[in-house]
Amino acid sequence: MDISSILQGGYQHPLSRSWQSRKQLTKSMLMYPIFISDNPEASETIPTLPNQRRWGINKLEDFLGPLMKKGLGSVILFGVPSNCAKDGKGSPADDPSGPVILAIKKLRELFPSLYIACDVCLCEYTDHGHCGLLHKDGTIDTTPSVDRIAEVAVSYARAGAHCVAPSDMMDGRIKAIKRAPYMAPSGMQQAVPLLLGTGNVTNYLHRLRD
Ligand SMILES: [Zn+2]
Repeated sequence: MDISSILQGGYQHPLSRSWQSRKQLTKSMLMYPIFISDNPEASETIPTLPNQRRWGINKLEDFLGPLMKKGLGSVILFGVPSNCAKDGKGSPADDPSGPVILAIKKLRELFPSLYIACDVCLCEYTDHGHCGLLHKDGTIDTTPSVDRIAEVAVSYARAGAHCVAPSDMMDGRIKAIKRAPYMAPSGMQQAVPLLLGTGNVTNYLHRLRD
């Protein structure tokens, strides 16, 4: 694959991770993770996250409206499907009638100033549960996986996301996202890719989906 560098080595040791970590945080840097159910009326507790819920798109206005008044500036959306038909390439990830794309459109309409990031992930939508496409022997097939991840990112950007955040660990997917026609500088809109996929963070994010 034509990539300029392998990045994983830079953050596999705790010390090298600390060198790259941001030392100071302010409230405006934070994104609120929102877990979007494919049940539009959902308001479901999340066992591993006390006081947090999975929300249906019809509940987003009442939930986020008061937080916007308190200064909420950004959310990051995680799709949590329960009824979709999963397949080998995670087709439901960018289903136009799926929870993430519907939520992006709804939030853009309800709260025009809200910055919307989206987790880009196939795990929740593949029948094998991995964040990519597989060879026959069950190992990850990197090139089509990266292409598919970029395809989903473009779908979210087209729906109105300001930021697309792949949470897999696949080399080359940021390049593929940046070079996808809609995301390139000459495209209609530029959505910024954000890396979610460091090992510890990825493990954490998957627990959030309990
Ligand atoms: Zn994933």
